[in-house]
Amino acid sequence: MKILIIGGGGREHALAWKCAQSGDVSEVIVAPGNAGTELESKIRNVDVAADDIDALLNLASKENIGLTIVGPEQPLVAGIVDRFIAQDLPCFGPVAAAAQLEGSKAYTKDFLLRHGIPTGAYETFTEVDLALAYVRKKGAPIVIKADGLAAGKGVIVAFGIDEAENAVRDMLSEGAFGDAGHRIVIEEFLEGEEASFIVMTDGISVLPLASSQDHKARDEGDVGPNTGGMGAYSPAPVVTPEIEQRIMDEVINPTLAGLRKDGINYLGFLYAGLMITADGTPKVIEFNCRMGDPETQPIMARMRSDLAPICLAAIAGDLSNVTAEWDSRAALGVVMAAGGYPGNYAKGKTIHGLPQQESRDSKVFHAGTAISGGDVITSGGRVLCVVGLGDTVAGASDTAYELVKSIEWDDVYYRNDIGHRAVGREQS
Ligand code: AMP
Repeated sequence: MKILIIGGGGREHALAWKCAQSGDVSEVIVAPGNAGTELESKIRNVDVAADDIDALLNLASKENIGLTIVGPEQPLVAGIVDRFIAQDLPCFGPVAAAAQLEGSKAYTKDFLLRHGIPTGAYETFTEVDLALAYVRKKGAPIVIKADGLAAGKGVIVAFGIDEAENAVRDMLSEGAFGDAGHRIVIEEFLEGEEASFIVMTDGISVLPLASSQDHKARDEGDVGPNTGGMGAYSPAPVVTPEIEQRIMDEVINPTLAGLRKDGINYLGFLYAGLMITADGTPKVIEFNCRMGDPETQPIMARMRSDLAPICLAAIAGDLSNVTAEWDSRAALGVVMAAGGYPGNYAKGKTIHGLPQQESRDSKVFHAGTAISGGDVITSGGRVLCVVGLGDTVAGASDTAYELVKSIEWDDVYYRNDIGHRAVGREQS
């Protein structure tokens, strides 16, 4: 069987690498891919953009693709799965109506409230004066969110009232996030420990993936600007079996049931970004309609089962008897970024020290990379995700950082404390 992976980041490298390991898979095509997917055996890049739905449909039918997995959110929100279904092409991901769970934060907050699923208190605004009055009434800390897709960067957690007011003005008057920010959600600041919980679902049955946690802030100690993610690890010790059961009972299953009630069947990866509050209540911060990046990288590094048959079982509406096996070791991924990210940064730097051989204990997943004149060069803000495996999160961290330190380019930036909460728990 041939598989098509749509996207070109670290998540897509990890999904393609995982699919290519299966004896049942003859070739994995990645559109558009990156230098990492280009260099893998059994994987081929095709220069089609992830949002060019017409060209992707042509590619899938011309190449006789048996399964397409959509990596990023934009094509999902734009309805790529609806188009593939209309042409009878097997595609793992939610239809546009279901992808609204990520496409509009206002829709999602209303949905959560309507179906009694725990989340922070909020209001939605389009008028700057009303939004400012609400911020002043509620006080800081408070969270300001652009309604639409903003590449993971449209959220300001404001610890002071001035910062909150500036965020409101930036989004509503200055158009800081373009159309995505013409409507904003202002939300209660939730305290607790964050966890990502990602499942595969056919709309009724649910297969939870190994738990994970990411670090969104750019700098050590989880401070600095919000990014797409600076590192992640799996498992996340905060998700104990009891908490997992609460997440399933109070968030995942009610969400799928609520969608069905609204006439929507959700097929695909469903990612719940959660705040686990002091009493163990999982409150929804956000939903994503696809795998997380960088969570995918450590999760795929731990997945022992083949991924493609699980996707196909879900497409057949037959996920109820499927289980997945996991490497008992922990995996931890460190994002190596271009200096300056998420602001301005340079591209085109030659990367030195990439490992030449595969290892059982580590894997370098590429994100913003390209090949130029035989060299691997940087082509984006998040450049690599270096994953290490170990018997503990601390052990996985040691392996990952040893490899990180052997890779370099001019102006590389990474955090040295990925996994610090989990390592702290292991040591206590
Ligand atoms: P989001 O894009 O909605 O996941 O938000 C990005 C990050 O902002 C989250 O991972 C949290 O760290 C933080 N965040 C978002 N909403 C809240 C909230 N209501 N309370 C506290 N932190 C939040």
